[in-house]
Amino acid sequence: GTGSRYDFVIVGGGTSGLVVANRLSEMRDVTVVVIEAGDSVLNNYNVSTTTGYGLSFGTSIDWAYQTEDQIYAGGSKQTMRAGKAIGGTSTINGMSYTRAQKAQIDAWEKAGNKGWNWNNLFPYYLKSEQFQVPTAEQAARGADYYKSYHGDHGPLKVGWPKAMTNSSLLPILDETFQHLGVSYNRDVNGGSMVGLTVHPDTLDRESNVRHDAARAYFWPYENRSNLKIISNTYANRIVWGDDSDGDAVAIGVEVAGVNGIEIIYATKEVILSAGSLKSPVLLQLSGIGNSDRLNQHDISLKVNISSVGENLQDQANNGLSYEGKEFWLGLPTFSALPSAEQIYGNELSDFASTVSESLGDYARNVSIASNGAVEEANVLDALQMQYDLIFESHVPFAEIVLLPIGHSFSSEYWQLLPFSRGRIHIQSSDASQPPAINPSYFMFQPDLKAQVDVAQFIRKAFSTAPLNRLVGEEFAPGVEHVPEDAPDAVWESWVKSKYRSNFHPVGTASMLPRDKGGVVGPDLRVYGTKNVRVVDASVVPFQLCGHLTSTLYALAERASDLIKRRYIF
Ligand code: FAD
Repeated sequence: GTGSRYDFVIVGGGTSGLVVANRLSEMRDVTVVVIEAGDSVLNNYNVSTTTGYGLSFGTSIDWAYQTEDQIYAGGSKQTMRAGKAIGGTSTINGMSYTRAQKAQIDAWEKAGNKGWNWNNLFPYYLKSEQFQVPTAEQAARGADYYKSYHGDHGPLKVGWPKAMTNSSLLPILDETFQHLGVSYNRDVNGGSMVGLTVHPDTLDRESNVRHDAARAYFWPYENRSNLKIISNTYANRIVWGDDSDGDAVAIGVEVAGVNGIEIIYATKEVILSAGSLKSPVLLQLSGIGNSDRLNQHDISLKVNISSVGENLQDQANNGLSYEGKEFWLGLPTFSALPSAEQIYGNELSDFASTVSESLGDYARNVSIASNGAVEEANVLDALQMQYDLIFESHVPFAEIVLLPIGHSFSSEYWQLLPFSRGRIHIQSSDASQPPAINPSYFMFQPDLKAQVDVAQFIRKAFSTAPLNRLVGEEFAPGVEHVPEDAPDAVWESWVKSKYRSNFHPVGTASMLPRDKGGVVGPDLRVYGTKNVRVVDASVVPFQLCGHLTSTLYALAERASDLIKRRYIF
């Protein structure tokens, strides 16, 4: 019927999709529809409470994607969480708001994505943001910032929790990390991230609720007559019309919802924002991918792009924890972001050589593991660029989240830019069947060593004054399991037995030149199509040192402007 025809069909009402929906529907004369598998979580306490991290895990709003056996990481499967709700993963995430290092956004442009550099993206970080200036009480507890790094008028509220951890802590952490060569960083959101910091979160301080993509970008705008969301509805695949000038033309999306299977028609564009573990799957189900693989599943080929679903990059997360000698109240937002130099000290050049010498063989192995879907030379270029970021631009090497809560003081950490590369592939032409997800954690052996080296650095931090006076026994890993002088092999088996996904998958429909293994170009349009774009974490070509949402909001803001430019004269 006529009700199911819109100018823009956006698949996925998550973090990125709702930004695009909001901005495109600012054009009064176009219609925008969002297809979302989940439902409203506006009144879901697990979502709104600012101290509820983890409460929604394993509930109906968590996709809880399962990986393949992780053969380089102890063999077990991992759960990759993602939000299934209006608001997407921003409704279940940790709310940390940290952007990226300038050099790594500039690397997008250096890799061939014209216009995607820090200076061009920075105004969009600000456009999305509504910064909440810390109160005197919050400032005393460590909330600090540079005004020029923040936006005042955006939809997304960013600031510190109403109840922050006791004010005595920051000076103690600062002094301790100074001893380890890591200095205090007032505000990591200006493109220079190394240091110890007290970062803001995506929350509404006054109402004391999480500010997710739906609260920021959708609910206040839901009455726009040209904006509609269809929830509890799954997109299955893109529906194609006749090619135009050799390019594939999308005319709509096949969906499965309360009315069974139907087609929602798009008169202008289809925009995939289903997340980095779904958008590449939808492309494959729609005939965009590796021709051999699509053939196996009797899917007729629309555009042959062998790298769809390749370049999957996630981080691995481990934690150390200690008995606390005090009792801590409030929501902590302390993070240490040391550079490789700060972690490795005198051993830096040895470690750098180990990595450097392994890259060539490793690039070949990644290409082989992909069955030739990614080219060795392209992988090597990307790895080399990443090497340069770590060892020459000195971007942060690890994030160490410090969590003094109640009677314990724990930490979570991850190597920020692992070299391991994985993939996600469909296993059936039936959209309801799960894909094969393989992040290949620790496939690159030095990544495992890095995860061990950072653990040792953290243990050292907790035994350094004055922090050592606040903690007692080590609960995890515990000296009985991993003694003080334990060989690396013992640490490695601890890492492999306890790690989890850091839930930051990117790269599965990378924005890169087509001959470099890209799936979308700098306009985020899928190669070989006239009117299909991807706007979500899939297009981020290389892993970031910040948590992802801040950059995704900015990316989706900029993408919206690029799209609008085509339709406003
Ligand atoms: P999403 O926000 O996941 O949106 C995709 C949407 O598409 C979802 O709503 C989904 O339901 C929908 N969808 C999927 N398939 C279909 C389909 N077939 N049909 C219709 N709809 C579909 N980042 C931070 O910045 N700070 C943090 O502290 C932080 N912590 C995290 C903690 C956890 C547990 C997790 C899982 C992630 C965390 N992240 C954090 C990462 C960040 O939240 C995500 O990277 C980001 O939200 C992803 O945004 P996206 O737009 O790519 O996809």
